[in-house]
Amino acid sequence: MLTADAFYEIVRPFKRGLCMRKRDVDRFKKVLLERKQEIISSAETMREEGIGFDEADLADEVDLASTEADQAMNLRLHDRELVLLRKIDRTLKKIEDGEFGVCEHCGEEINIKRLEARPVAEVCIRCKEDMEKQEKGYAE
Ligand SMILES: [Zn+2]
Repeated sequence: MLTADAFYEIVRPFKRGLCMRKRDVDRFKKVLLERKQEIISSAETMREEGIGFDEADLADEVDLASTEADQAMNLRLHDRELVLLRKIDRTLKKIEDGEFGVCEHCGEEINIKRLEARPVAEVCIRCKEDMEKQEKGYAE
C-alpha cells in the first residue's frame, strides 16, 4: 500500500504537467524555437519590402479573432504570425517555469497529441470545446 508521501510523489508531478518526459519537453521547445525563427525571418523579409506592423490595430484584431473565426481568416498573414509569435514566447516561458502542457483553464494535463498538433495550446481539448460552445451561444 502507498504511503501518503509516496502517493504525492506520483500525483504531484502530474498536477504540474511534469509527467511529460524532459525529452518530450525539449522536443517541443526545439519546434517552438524553430517556428519562432521562421516567423522572425518572414517578418524581416516583409519589413525589407516596406510592410509595417501596427501594434495597436493588432490588439483589436486579436480580440475579434478570438470570437469570430471569420475574422481570424481575414487577418493579414503577418498579423497572424505576430499573434503566434507572442503565443510561442508565452509557451517558451511556460517551459522554463515547468508549466508546459497544463491547461490554463482547469489545470489538467493537455493531451500530448493535442500539443503535437498545436504546441502553443493553452487549454485542454475539453475546455476548448466548452469555450467554443459558449462562444456560439449554446446552452449547456
Ligand atoms: Zn482544461
